[in-house]
Amino acid sequence: SSHNDCPLDKDELGRNTWGFLHTMAAYYPDNPSKNEQEDMKKMMHIFSKFYPCEYCAEDFQQSIKRDEPDTRNQYSFSQWMCRMHNEVNVKLGKAKFDCSRVNERWRDGWNDGSCD
Ligand code: FAD
Repeated sequence: SSHNDCPLDKDELGRNTWGFLHTMAAYYPDNPSKNEQEDMKKMMHIFSKFYPCEYCAEDFQQSIKRDEPDTRNQYSFSQWMCRMHNEVNVKLGKAKFDCSRVNERWRDGWNDGSCD
């Protein structure tokens, strides 16, 4: 029952949040207006202040300062998000994700058809 739905732990929150962030990047416009580009930059800056894991948020703010959100188009923004996620992967000792496959993972499905 819904009584067994519990608050998210750090890893569940992370998985759900990456799902949202990468999917948002996957459907970001190919030709965004200047306003859309600025809004998405602000979105990521504000996101980094409120992400509900304090030390995660602090590190993410530092990452964003070093490598500002590249919101010029869908490709550049999805690649930027992939780099941000890979920084966390490296910090946690996980394998890096191959960013050339980010649209397969989050938008189109794998080229072998396994998501169709
Ligand atoms: P996740 O890392 O959650 O990834 C989910 C799926 O995304 C993977 O299965 C893979 O298919 C795909 N994926 C993996 N890497 C990439 C990539 N580079 N680009 C695109 N897709 C990819 N946890 C901590 O312990 N310490 C932290 O400081 C920390 N900081 C975080 C900061 C942010 C902004 C977020 C959103 C999460 C953070 N987390 C942190 C959580 C952590 O990143 C993971 O979500 C959590 O450890 C669960 O990992 P997972 O192995 O289930 O896969």
